[in-house]
Amino acid sequence: MPFLDLAAQHAEVRAELDGAFHRVLDRGVFILGPEVEAFEAEFAAYCGTRCAIGVANGLDALFLVLKAWGIGPGDEVLVPANTFIATWLAVTYTGATPVPVDVERTTCNIDPTLLAAAVTPRTRAIIPVHLYGQPANMRAIRDVAATFGLRVLEDAAQSHGAEMDGQRAGSLGDAAAFSFYPGKNLGALGDGGGITTNDPALADAIRTLRNYGSRRKYHHEVPGVNSRLDELQAAFLRVKLSHLPRWNTRRAEIAATYHTRLARTGFELPCVAPGMTSSWHLYVVRHAQRDLVREQLTARGIDTIVHYPINPAEQPAYASLTLDPAATPMAATLQHRVLSLPLSPTMTDADVERVVMACRDVDAELSSRTVA
Ligand SMILES: *Cc1c(COP(=O)(O)O)cnc(C)c1O
Repeated sequence: MPFLDLAAQHAEVRAELDGAFHRVLDRGVFILGPEVEAFEAEFAAYCGTRCAIGVANGLDALFLVLKAWGIGPGDEVLVPANTFIATWLAVTYTGATPVPVDVERTTCNIDPTLLAAAVTPRTRAIIPVHLYGQPANMRAIRDVAATFGLRVLEDAAQSHGAEMDGQRAGSLGDAAAFSFYPGKNLGALGDGGGITTNDPALADAIRTLRNYGSRRKYHHEVPGVNSRLDELQAAFLRVKLSHLPRWNTRRAEIAATYHTRLARTGFELPCVAPGMTSSWHLYVVRHAQRDLVREQLTARGIDTIVHYPINPAEQPAYASLTLDPAATPMAATLQHRVLSLPLSPTMTDADVERVVMACRDVDAELSSRTVA
């Protein structure tokens, strides 16, 4: 059982993807043309925001928002202690410093009750990550941000279509960054990223930044970068966006089955907070004997992945910050416990049952060993 079967997903929409490819090839416009424009409008509508801007990848999406807000050297940005390193790197790229905040035991998302204590006179923004697809507690996070005059940038790379109180991820902060990396809920056939916001001035600044700081060809207002979404990728994303609701529904069904069928085992199951709808980018269980479980599942033909085995604070890349992992104890523990089970929208009920039976089998075997 593969962890994610992208080939099966693409086979379902193969004719439409072929059509998109030929449309772009025949038109002969490859950079910042009608496909990007149409995708931006469609994605903004999907997220419920006024604006969306296509960029080259999720890391750039995060970076460009911070840059447009003028965040730079001497500034601090609050980030969760347990995320993919891109969340931190975007801050580092601006010259500012990422400041880790520990996460909730239940949701693995940034703990809003710890934010105020992490704020200093240098703090400019918070980047909550909607980890595994469940929105962070944006109600509480926005309250803290309002109290201290901070901006909120959602890292929505894992949460296309997730909701809090009926509002979509991407519309829950001052701006949001999405990744369209192939393995995300909405993935391109290569790299891609996007930003959503209700602030047209911010959108305009990012459109300028992503294209060499230029609004008019060969006129450069600011030292921008080259971070554009390709026409081809935008055309593919338009096809896949039209299927995203159906694919997300199937993800939720699979998650519900895992939830029922793995109850009362040694696996600690993901829990969704009131008012939240996860996009189920990942179904992440916890187990005290995670590495053994993983090995035994592999032996039974079940692929799993650990998201993430080493927190950014413990990566050599961040050695210079000399962070103490014990200062964020929940994140420090989670990295040894979490395990992501296979989750593809194309999995059949029989596929899901195969994973369930393997998990139950492994769990029973390990717990009998513990007793003996
Ligand atoms: C995937 C991901 C990113 C980065 O996206 P890329 O498109 O790979 O640059 C950022 N944050 C989180 C939480 C992610 O999962």
